[in-house]
Amino acid sequence: MTDCIFCKIVAGDIPSEKVYEDGDVLAFRDVQPVAPTHVLVIPKKHIANITELGDAGLTSKLIAAVNKVAEDQGLVANGFRVVNNCGDQGGQTVGHLHFHILGGRDMQWPPG
Ligand code: AMP
Repeated sequence: MTDCIFCKIVAGDIPSEKVYEDGDVLAFRDVQPVAPTHVLVIPKKHIANITELGDAGLTSKLIAAVNKVAEDQGLVANGFRVVNNCGDQGGQTVGHLHFHILGGRDMQWPPG
């Protein structure tokens, strides 16, 4: 999509600090981190939110990428959080499916 900032990151039109990439998935550091490690994992293909993720193969690749990033970033031993915000009340601000990986500090529950 031409007006999607994450599609522009995939295309290389907006710079990002990539930490993982394969043919279908990209992971890059969040520009406004809320934890010492804050990475976003996205499908390269534009999918608006998790309710539109019907592709089991791509779902598997996204989860595998989440686990690889967590491992590569050294988050597995102490634990980490994976967040998906969906829709307005879910707090989604970018309309391209993404999973936040948050780590490096103790997390609170319930989230805000
Ligand atoms: P959400 O609120 O769940 O939709 O998360 C969107 C996330 O995208 C926020 O944490 C933003 O800080 C992050 N973000 C927005 N623009 C960029 C960008 N150009 N590069 C990296 N992260 C971004």
